[in-house]
Amino acid sequence: MEPLKLLPAFQDYIWGGTRLRTEFGKHSNLERIAESWELSCHEAGQSVIMNSVHKGMTLKEYLEQDWAARVGEGSARSSVFPVLIKLIDACQDLSVQVHPDDRYAREHENGENGKTECWYIVDCEEGAALVYGLNRELTKAEFRTTIEKGALMDAVQLVPVKKGDVFFIEAGTLHAIGAGILIAEIQQNSNLTYRVYDYDRKGSDGKPRELHIDKAVDVTKTWPAPPRRSASRTEYEGYTAAVIADCPYFTTTEMHITEEASFPAGGGVSYTHLLCTEGEAALVYDDGVTMPIMKGDSVFLPANFGAYQLRGENCTLLSTQTLPRR
Ligand code: ZN
Repeated sequence: MEPLKLLPAFQDYIWGGTRLRTEFGKHSNLERIAESWELSCHEAGQSVIMNSVHKGMTLKEYLEQDWAARVGEGSARSSVFPVLIKLIDACQDLSVQVHPDDRYAREHENGENGKTECWYIVDCEEGAALVYGLNRELTKAEFRTTIEKGALMDAVQLVPVKKGDVFFIEAGTLHAIGAGILIAEIQQNSNLTYRVYDYDRKGSDGKPRELHIDKAVDVTKTWPAPPRRSASRTEYEGYTAAVIADCPYFTTTEMHITEEASFPAGGGVSYTHLLCTEGEAALVYDDGVTMPIMKGDSVFLPANFGAYQLRGENCTLLSTQTLPRR
């Protein structure tokens, strides 16, 4: 069984920069690359397999085929792959926005998933900051008035960030990535966003981008977000590990490897996604086969992948999901 290198899908939203091309090895004809969707089975941008006999297939097609082979045709299980992982390069501030939870999304958005997400600050400029929830409790009516009179930025928590910081953005939490921040985002597989405030900017068609105030008022938690949990890093021989997200949708560990880290085979894990955010790694599997992983690369390890090692000096985000037993 081979590790699968993934070709991401790109998005050129107006606030994007060029660092994903110049520093993270991404190839695209787009002038700016706001987002690369590194692990995606979402219809708005799908990952494509770059190697092995599955080369050229979308990850979604591969997983459907894999699932059918395992449990038989007709199971829709893998067609709703639960996680989406992105790199996001914010050259300008992103709009202040909020996402619904599963319950609201299923009722009001044609059965789509809600969106809880986790941010890992891969890199940022000095003085960069982001919006994380409100700075005080408001009633829904006060929240709406604050938006309507253009005073929302006075009511939000603006948090300065540094490399390696982690934010868990539960559905319903108002948020915005600030200019000069490059993040890895691990999120539920959903593209549902309610835009609340866009700094009165114009979109690429010269018109202001649409806001979704009513829905945002419905879903926003109008009290301050819980204090941020900082990731606690544990040192081992050859690497440091920190669980940066652990929720029903995904589990992600930041691995700072100086020499080598070893991982045992399978163990009920349905997949593993590796995203190298710094340095370069050698993925060693099958007793000595080596695959180089460069900064910005994404590799998907299928279910039941054997034991492997990551070698070299690198920082790699390792996301897994354990499916419930059938
Ligand atoms: Zn978001």
